[in-house]
Amino acid sequence: MSKDLSELRKQIDEINMQMLELINERGRIAQEIGKVKISQGVNRYDPVRERAMLNKITEDYEGPYEVSTIQHIFKEIFKAALELQEDDHRKALLVSRKKQPQDTIVNVKGEEVGNGRPHFVFGPCAVESYEQVAEVAKAVKAKGLKLLRGGAFKPRTSPYDFQGLGIEGLKILKQVADEFDLATISEIVTPNDIEKAVEYIDVIQIGARNMQNFELLKAAGQVNKPVLLKRGLAATIDEFINAAEYIMAQGNGQIILCERGIRTYEKATRNTLDISAVPILKQETHLPVFVDVTHSTGRRDLLLPTAKAALAIGADGVMAEVHPDPAVALSDAAQQMDLNQFDAFYAEIEKILQLQRA
Ligand code: PEP
Ligand code: MN
Repeated sequence: MSKDLSELRKQIDEINMQMLELINERGRIAQEIGKVKISQGVNRYDPVRERAMLNKITEDYEGPYEVSTIQHIFKEIFKAALELQEDDHRKALLVSRKKQPQDTIVNVKGEEVGNGRPHFVFGPCAVESYEQVAEVAKAVKAKGLKLLRGGAFKPRTSPYDFQGLGIEGLKILKQVADEFDLATISEIVTPNDIEKAVEYIDVIQIGARNMQNFELLKAAGQVNKPVLLKRGLAATIDEFINAAEYIMAQGNGQIILCERGIRTYEKATRNTLDISAVPILKQETHLPVFVDVTHSTGRRDLLLPTAKAALAIGADGVMAEVHPDPAVALSDAAQQMDLNQFDAFYAEIEKILQLQRA
């Protein structure tokens, strides 16, 4: 008995090798066909031809397999041959490391984001007044920092909450930034506003709620302005990377990714900071990666430890919200730092930066 089994297995092994050779041969011919189709400007995928091949294979078929099984096996072979016809470059995303091994450096008014040294974005959740922004800008400037944030278009959960000052807010942000020689970053929520907004801001932020607003992504891809793209509330890393691809596919490669926490069942924090997303994004893409410690935690007491974690794990930058008087802030009152807390926070960060430099 056992001799029979080994003999049968030998036959199976031989058939496997014959099938492999036939599949390879078929693949080589399919590649030839692909070349002819390119020269004729014809689509590689031809469903009518596939249907005809399947019909021919199965019209007199008598088993032992089900017809559907045979169709399934051949459909897989057709698919593999089609993939073989696509060159590797087309398969690799523009934002991928495979496509570009070296890091992208995004230049924001001379600030080289992604150059190996950490960068910081501070500022209020929302632009509320000239004085409010100026107070924060002064504190940012005093630390030798360059990037100032402030929302003018606020995507709020409730339509009755403060929606931001709109273009007026961008004008305030620009006025303050010019006075303190800072660069600005602010969220834009609709494609129509992009053209006007680029006159006022240095980085277009696309927020978590708009990460898959494909028309907005495309519009941001059509301007010559850096974009900070935040991860969606429930977006996988793959979806996040593809959102960045939407921007880059339109021609704008100046993209900074920003992990800002994702929604999980955990209630101790506003969102769950997916810290391992940082090295994954760094491995998979060539883009700089920031961590927003404010929106990921929603807790003032966690800003410093999570910022330290971000720097330790290799983030290119950290974003956090600062307000002169968070208690009266029109949005995110519970989580913004006041100016004293900001000083203490940054003093601790500077200790790490000194260690990194040493
Ligand atoms: C913001 O940074 O102002 C903001 C609204 O963040 P997110 O889109 O990550 O919620
Ligand atoms: Mn906020």
